[in-house]
Formats: sequence, structure tokens, C-alpha cells
Amino acid sequence: MPSGRVHLLIGAAAVALVVFVFPKMVSIEAFLTVPIFLIYTLLPDIDIPTSSISAHARKFFLVAALMGAVADYFFPNLYVLLFAIVAGVVIVAMTFATHRRFFHSLLAGPLLAAPLIYVGWVWFFSGVLGYYLHLLADGEFFSGGLSS
Ligand SMILES: [Zn+2]
Repeated sequence: MPSGRVHLLIGAAAVALVVFVFPKMVSIEAFLTVPIFLIYTLLPDIDIPTSSISAHARKFFLVAALMGAVADYFFPNLYVLLFAIVAGVVIVAMTFATHRRFFHSLLAGPLLAAPLIYVGWVWFFSGVLGYYLHLLADGEFFSGGLSS
């Protein structure tokens, strides 16, 4: 199981390879999705309590859930309420998740990248590709995270 640093290096190498092989694909929007791609190369290890992505994600989703709840109180809106609820569910899922089960499955990538559709499809696919690159590096891609 590669460390987070190795997953980032693999992600950076993949970006460099795409830029080298497909230089015409490089656009401003594609360039802007690189940080999302790199974050999603770390995201499957969100179920490891000691991983750095887990600590950052826990803070992010806690702040998101609280801000969503406060915003919904003052400006009632179904989407804001759903956002707060999903953020809370993710925190609970992170707490009880077993390593290399749901978060290392092929289904988790598109589900966790789905909010990126609101930004744009390029962002969504960048997140899914980053997620799947992590599964490939872990050797979990073809088993869908259910091998262990
Ligand atoms: Zn992993």
C-alpha cells in the first residue's frame, strides 16, 4: 500500500505523462483541475484515521456541515440542507468505515466526485480519474476494493 506521498507522486507523474503525450489537451480548465485530480488520488485513504487526507477531510466536512446547518437556518434551502446532511454522513462514514472496503471501491469514485458535476464535467472526470489511479496504485482497481 503506497503512502500518500507516493500516491501524489504517481498522480503528478500521470499529469506529466498526459501533458507530454497529449499536449493539445492542455487547456486552462484542464490545468485548473490538476489540484482536484491530485486530491482525489489521496481520497480513497480517507478511511485510514492516521492518513493526512483523513485529518483534512474530517475538518473540511465538519466545517461544511456546520456552515450548511447555519446557512440553512438563516436562508432555508433544500440544497444547502442536503449539503449539510451529506457532509455529516461522510463524517459518520469515515468514523465507522473499514479500510479498503467502500472507499476503495469503483462505486465510491463517481459518488464522491459527483458534487464536481456542478462545477463542470471536466472536473468530475478529473476527480474520478484521480480516484481510480489510487485504486490502480493500490492494486485494488480490478477487484473493486473487495479483494481483502
Ligand atoms: Zn489506498
